[in-house]
Amino acid sequence: MITKKVYLYFPQSETERPIVYELVKQFDLVVNIFRAKVTNEESGYLSLEVTGSQENVDRAFEYLSGFDVNIHAGNSGMVWDENRCGQCGACLVHCPTGALSMVDRDIRQISFNDKACVECLACVEACPFGACSSKF
Ligand code: SF4
Ligand code: SF4
Repeated sequence: MITKKVYLYFPQSETERPIVYELVKQFDLVVNIFRAKVTNEESGYLSLEVTGSQENVDRAFEYLSGFDVNIHAGNSGMVWDENRCGQCGACLVHCPTGALSMVDRDIRQISFNDKACVECLACVEACPFGACSSKF
């Protein structure tokens, strides 16, 4: 079994497609949705984690590539600007994976681990200094 994070960004034309349903039904994947915004009127995005056999995950990604969706698993959607970070720690309780963490409590030093980030964007709303932002 493997787990892969994936971020899907898709245009209005694809927002009615039951993507998550198909990932579960067709490919027997366990899907953990971190963030979603999908309406019929506008473009949407899904930030999720899929777990299943390597073969099924590969097949699912092949299936997804048939959609008019922008897929990436490289965690490049969330941007952390260290220079704007006020080290306040407000984001920490909102970050579900610990991608944002306090590495030194004495000097309140915050660190961002992009490999752990699932792009839920909870920190974007939580940050009072605008240090967290989304490319999308
Ligand atoms: S988007 Fe922000 S809150 Fe969400 S996992 Fe990444 S760093 Fe944490
Ligand atoms: S909420 Fe913003 S300013 Fe505060 S520690 Fe997190 S990233 Fe830095």
